[in-house]
Amino acid sequence: MGLEAERSGETRYLVFELGMTGLLFFTLLDPSYRKHTHLTLSLTGSVPALYYWNPRRFGRVYLLDGPGLARFAKRRFGCDPLTVSWEDFRGVVARRRGRLKALLMHQQVIAGIGNIYANEILYRARLHPYRVASRLHAQTVRRLYDAIRDVLSEAIKAGGSSVRDFLAPDGTKGDYWKQHRVYNKAGLPCPAGCGSTIRRLAGERSSFYCPSCQRK
Ligand SMILES: [Zn+2]
Repeated sequence: MGLEAERSGETRYLVFELGMTGLLFFTLLDPSYRKHTHLTLSLTGSVPALYYWNPRRFGRVYLLDGPGLARFAKRRFGCDPLTVSWEDFRGVVARRRGRLKALLMHQQVIAGIGNIYANEILYRARLHPYRVASRLHAQTVRRLYDAIRDVLSEAIKAGGSSVRDFLAPDGTKGDYWKQHRVYNKAGLPCPAGCGSTIRRLAGERSSFYCPSCQRK
């Protein structure tokens, strides 16, 4: 890979798909991680190596040139929820007739939001997971837009949510799970103090919501 990149003189990009539970590490944390480390890259510079850990083997690694990377991103990812403008986001939501929860998790429409954050965002925006996207009023869509940015910014600041396997490349855990309000909290009182208990909707991926704060 390195040889080819040098010969052509072009910049190449390594793209890692983590496939649900995959991780990248700068250090091999302990010998138990050796088993599912499917690729080790020796690097020059301050980081001596990069380890690609992929226990479920759902991941992929691509080596792409500039145009290839642009095509890949266009095909696979929708708008970036932290940089999309309000006008563009409003347009995206207005065109979707499906349920809000599915929209938030549809990577080709809005990239990067998984089940944990979709639940937390909808609770923050006080929107039921089954509300229909295209039927929302502009001010409700604005609430969703703000909630996405608030929840994701807070989560990034806290280093993500180490619920099961997730760790940062240096092996540290993300603390955002301590701030989860609804995810995995079925049966507990709503943190807004409305008097209701958090419910769980069994679907493709479980949804957690407050029946009083997030009316259908
Ligand atoms: Zn509530």
